[in-house]
Amino acid sequence: MNRRQFLCASAASFVCVGNLSAATYDLVIKGGRVIDPSVGLDAVRDVAIVAGKIAAVETDIRGDAADTIDARGKIVAPGLIDIHTHAARVAEGARICLQDGVTGWVDGGSARADNIDQIAAAARAAPQIGRVLVNISRTGNAPDGELMDINRANVGLARGAIARHRDMVIGVKARLTHDIAGTNDLEGLRRAQEAAAPFGLPVMIHMGQSFSPMRSILALLKRGDIVTHMYAPAPNGILDDDGRLFPDVAAARRRGVIFDLGNGGNRHLKWDVVERATRQGFWPDTLSTDWTANSRENPSVIDFPNVMSKFIMLGMPLAQVIACATVNAARLFPAFDDRGTLNIGAPADVAIMELREGTFEFVDNYKGMRTGHQRLFPIAAVLAGKRAPPRA
Ligand SMILES: [Zn+2]
Repeated sequence: MNRRQFLCASAASFVCVGNLSAATYDLVIKGGRVIDPSVGLDAVRDVAIVAGKIAAVETDIRGDAADTIDARGKIVAPGLIDIHTHAARVAEGARICLQDGVTGWVDGGSARADNIDQIAAAARAAPQIGRVLVNISRTGNAPDGELMDINRANVGLARGAIARHRDMVIGVKARLTHDIAGTNDLEGLRRAQEAAAPFGLPVMIHMGQSFSPMRSILALLKRGDIVTHMYAPAPNGILDDDGRLFPDVAAARRRGVIFDLGNGGNRHLKWDVVERATRQGFWPDTLSTDWTANSRENPSVIDFPNVMSKFIMLGMPLAQVIACATVNAARLFPAFDDRGTLNIGAPADVAIMELREGTFEFVDNYKGMRTGHQRLFPIAAVLAGKRAPPRA
């Protein structure tokens, strides 16, 4: 479609008369390897954008463009969606991760009843789409352990926070690690479900090193709920003492519970757990970083493309790695229904990355190193059809 056809098609109620603009397209991304798992595409294509939307994905798009990006030798993917970040915690967070190609994010629990207005405002002010999960504890991620006193998990206050920002809060978060929740992990999770239920929202749990076993925790999760930090080591991870995947974990996935990477920096990711689980076929549904504004200094995270690259090293096909960071993530939340795709008419959010060959060290949360031979690097991001400011 050219500009005129596209604008006419997308504004059917308006009478389309000539003289729309001199250029046929606002932006054309030329000659990249377009990997869009939402439509099963992996081929060299041009991507044309009009009025902030994808207008065409074809070989050799002709016609004038107001702006052109030469993407030859690069990967052109739907904008990345990171479902476990803390991008709303500081004002500049959203802008920093946009430079890494993250055109959509979920802040996983920086918000709580006591600060929901501030976090929702930060999400609203973000250049890209940002949404938040509200921590079931009114004090949120607290150094003294936000569920040690179960009275902080106040269902009424959490529901009030959701109701006040119904457009921005898309789920509830509960952190269940022993030094956060003590013996209250199951009760904290029950209250998170109670808070989410009237709104039909998912709950995301932060698993690993909990008091209760995974079997008891998983029993409280419903279809669409999300387990983050899925490769956290024992006690009470997804593997038994002999390193075998618990049958309850596979059963939870079969009934629609989502397993998310949640890379993080501390106690959430250990190579031997990742390797044992993936050897048994237990791969992530979604990749995510547990990103903060300091993540570039954290060798385990650096940026989302670095975290994605760990799974290239582990043998996940590249298109699947990109699916885990785009369309799979978008499917979890209605707010992201039109994201994670380069389909015609979708918002023109695009991540341009380079897959470099070389020797790269990948770090878990325990200073464990693995060496890979390919790594994705963020090159440019396009947000609503416009180039995002480049990384400094
Ligand atoms: Zn987190």
